[in-house]
Amino acid sequence: RHTSLVEAWRARVAREPEAVAIAYFDATMTVREVDEVTDALAAAYRSLGTQRGDRVGIYLQNIPQFALSLLALWKLGATALVLNPMYRGQELRRLIDDAAAVGIVCTDADVPATAETLVGSTVQWMVSTTPLAFQTRNDPRVFGAEARRLTPAEYDLEELIDEFRGVRPAPLAPTRDEVALLTYTSGTTGPPKGAMNTHGNLLAVTTTYAAWIELRPGDAVFAMAPLFHITGAVINATIALLHDAVLVMTNRFNPEVAIDAFVEHGVTFTIGSITAFNAIDQLPQATREHFASLRSVYSGGAPIPPSTVDRFRDRFGVYIHNIYGMTETSSGVIAVPLGVEAPVDEASGTLSVGVPLPGLDAQVVDASDRPVPPGAQGELVLRGPQVVPGYWHRPEATAATIPDGWLHTGDGAIMDEAGWVYLVDRLKDQINTSGYKVWPREVEDTLYAHPAVHEAAVVGVPDDYRGEAVTAFVSLKAGTTATPEELIAFARERLAAYKCPRVVHVVSDLPKTQTGKIRRNVLRDREAADAG
Ligand code: ATP
Ligand code: MG
Repeated sequence: RHTSLVEAWRARVAREPEAVAIAYFDATMTVREVDEVTDALAAAYRSLGTQRGDRVGIYLQNIPQFALSLLALWKLGATALVLNPMYRGQELRRLIDDAAAVGIVCTDADVPATAETLVGSTVQWMVSTTPLAFQTRNDPRVFGAEARRLTPAEYDLEELIDEFRGVRPAPLAPTRDEVALLTYTSGTTGPPKGAMNTHGNLLAVTTTYAAWIELRPGDAVFAMAPLFHITGAVINATIALLHDAVLVMTNRFNPEVAIDAFVEHGVTFTIGSITAFNAIDQLPQATREHFASLRSVYSGGAPIPPSTVDRFRDRFGVYIHNIYGMTETSSGVIAVPLGVEAPVDEASGTLSVGVPLPGLDAQVVDASDRPVPPGAQGELVLRGPQVVPGYWHRPEATAATIPDGWLHTGDGAIMDEAGWVYLVDRLKDQINTSGYKVWPREVEDTLYAHPAVHEAAVVGVPDDYRGEAVTAFVSLKAGTTATPEELIAFARERLAAYKCPRVVHVVSDLPKTQTGKIRRNVLRDREAADAG
């Protein structure tokens, strides 16, 4: 229907100007206020030299200024480069250089380190803000922060809004093909790549997914996923902004704060990583009442152990719906329908990730790209309006991953007769032990069923005798104990001998990406280095 996110936003402004658009602790902003403030910000970013098509970094946690900057940049036809605010030094600089960003929005506290990191980069201006500025409700200026100019190239976001209030940016309508977001992949399997998510991609995802989860005016969406990752940016923030819901934010995810926000704001929908749900499950004080207003809960981005879903249902009366997607599909595109429980693959015990959302073509193909019959395993390939046109400045990677419009996911999958998709595992992570193929997922799911296991990761470690040896890394729940021998015996009772870990390391923590995914490649490299 709409050709750009800006147009879709303006339609909401016309529909319900006085509705609450954003809630941050006890501060709220109406749709009209958000529109006025983002007009001012767009004019301000413009005056700093930002042109249509430029990349501007948003280097913030889940605070209102993140969402405001998104809308302001879209109003200019600029691209939001979403950056993990925990990145420091080279981690940040690499992405800034790769994207050739012209500006950055960060917190006051991050100014000194960021300024130092960005010396000599393409970044010409920094705008800083303070997360607490929003906590002053009913302040006519909305932001309560003291205005101040930092250095010639550094500006204060609240001051800019005051200065440019009432100034509307030149009317501009980005096209469907213009890039709204530049999002970097999680870096689970290698260095992160920048995916170019267009206005058309984001409109396709938010429209189909809003219908899928039956998002209604007045719903409250809790931003559980970080907004600097695709899931948070698109199906927490953008979907709420465009589909008449309140976007509820609480800065960096904290399980205790999250469950309180569910109650305070009557949250109806949320989506987050399974790590976040696990963190909530660790809270002794969490009860069913905390989840009473939630109509739908989704988790995506990483495998969900079936035992976690069962525990959540038993303890909180909440069913965690699975959803699958990639940075390259601009969020979740295969999902379990609302109110339906995912079937489990009998052979592997894996939960289905769901069925393709409307508009998405999904196939499972063999190594020569020929579709395999239902029930057979192959690589999942996807095509549709959600799929990015390519990676930023990486034509070879684009050609290798998205030849002829089909996105090659790198994920092994099975699709049954009815269209349910089962993710087997990342193709690259398959373990070859004594000639047997083992999928780490299946072994991990088995370990997760042990009452003491908090998190588990399984990798193949080079082994002179077997080729690769199945090796597990496990962290334990607070106050529990389990020995490696006990865990191996537990797996032995449930899995064929060749799939059982030969070695189990009990560790305090597993290496993760900033999006909460366990990085098997780090464990594999570490073990290989130790062995070598
Ligand atoms: P990189 O591409 O940089 O190695 P990444 O693939 O982890 O990192 P993302 O785009 O954040 O980066 O993640 C997409 C991947 O996450 C998918 O290819 C798939 O392997 C995994 N994934 C997503 N959703 C699910 C799910 N519901 N169940 C299991 N795995 C999932
Ligand atoms: Mg990937």
